[in-house]
Amino acid sequence: MKYLSTRGGMPPKSFTEILLGGLAPDGGLTIAENYPQVTKAELAAWRKLNYRDLAFEVIRRFADDIPAADLKAILDKTYTAEVFRSDDITPVKTLEPGLHILGLSHGPTLAFKDVAMQLLGNLFEYVLAKEGAELNILGATSGDTGSAAEYAMRGKKGIRVFMLSPKGKMSPFQTAQMYSLQDPNIFNLAVEGVFDDCQDIVKAVSNDLGFKDKYKIGTVNSINWARVTAQVVYYFKAYFAVTKCEDEEVSFSVPSGNFGNVCAGHIAKQMGLPIRKLIVATNENDVLDEFFRTGVYRPRPETAHTSSPSMDISKASNFERFVYDLVGRDPQVVKELWQKVDAGGSFDLAQTPYFEKVADFGFTSGSSNHGDRLTTIRRVFESYGAMIDTHTADGVKVGLEHREMGIPLVCLETALPAKFEETIREALGREPERPADLAGLEQLPQRFEVVKADAEEVKRFIVAHAGH
Ligand SMILES: *Cc1c(COP(=O)(O)O)cnc(C)c1O
Repeated sequence: MKYLSTRGGMPPKSFTEILLGGLAPDGGLTIAENYPQVTKAELAAWRKLNYRDLAFEVIRRFADDIPAADLKAILDKTYTAEVFRSDDITPVKTLEPGLHILGLSHGPTLAFKDVAMQLLGNLFEYVLAKEGAELNILGATSGDTGSAAEYAMRGKKGIRVFMLSPKGKMSPFQTAQMYSLQDPNIFNLAVEGVFDDCQDIVKAVSNDLGFKDKYKIGTVNSINWARVTAQVVYYFKAYFAVTKCEDEEVSFSVPSGNFGNVCAGHIAKQMGLPIRKLIVATNENDVLDEFFRTGVYRPRPETAHTSSPSMDISKASNFERFVYDLVGRDPQVVKELWQKVDAGGSFDLAQTPYFEKVADFGFTSGSSNHGDRLTTIRRVFESYGAMIDTHTADGVKVGLEHREMGIPLVCLETALPAKFEETIREALGREPERPADLAGLEQLPQRFEVVKADAEEVKRFIVAHAGH
């Protein structure tokens, strides 16, 4: 399997060659040259597999330059009951016949990003050891992505994490989750500023190419291809959980921000999984919903702060991968469209033949707001006795609007309610449940360094702690 850039300017590369990288050198995203096809007979055989073996069948078709035995060992080590709190890894909960919640948030940080990030940690360690190389991961977080990265990379040989977070601006739970880590390869830098300051510092350090090269600075953002690949697996797992045979179709509703999760669903469908609809659910930041309704992709100058904060984005960084497929995999077209986006503009596909294809790809969409979130959390709790978080509520709200008779609907649960206590209290007047092993998290000793919102100070910290 070779990987190309959506903008056509990268010579074909293998899976491990693109594993540690971000954007392709021409500014595009890396993408598989084709999607491996799974036959009905293969699907029938995969139905019996546990998560680890299913992950092996799916991922080996993309990561074919990792020896099969090594990949199997990495997956067996990643997807365990110890890390994901059950051997199902991604258990399905049935609310009523034909309506299901796919539990993706039973990993260490209680959010779906763990599913991919835990694999990434082990893949990074494996590839770095082979090359005798080291990596210093630099990131900025307002809570979720940073903690998933830290829990994936903790204790990994050859890897250090320097994670910037806005001092005093995260919830007590999120703060404790990150700052209580005592692993010597994890550095929490509490920046005296806001999240945007953290992000600006990461950009400034990454733009210093000499520094970046000398100190082997890398990132783990949501455009990483391996993360998307890891997420393809649970669409298959969920399909098998809610069907009896391979002739049935299933629809998925996906709480979306950067389009990574639903992009994995798109890939599963293109591989031959009988997916009927992929329902893109956004919050008030509805740049994706606008596209699927109107054909206009218009990244916003401002991002609204909402009660489903992990979906607060003004442009969707993985969206370019889907548009590449939508325009018939023509990199020239993608390049022209993103010339407009990168210059701060928008594009409109409504009057083009491309936009008609959106339905063939199974996509549809909707959006949700704070009031919808509260109503949905209450309704699911009262009708089914299940507590869902704010992001999952966006997915359930929009999913139900698109539900069809006779077609099972799977709503992806992207976080546990324990992470968003304030809104749960507002909706239900009670505290969310929390996994027993996380009781008392806020009382654990915390380890972090306070730094000024200054790229030079962060660089000095990295120099002092990066090792040589
Ligand atoms: C990251 C995240 C999302 C959005 O996922 P994308 O892959 O960026 O679309 C939704 N919900 C939660 C809880 C998240 O952490």
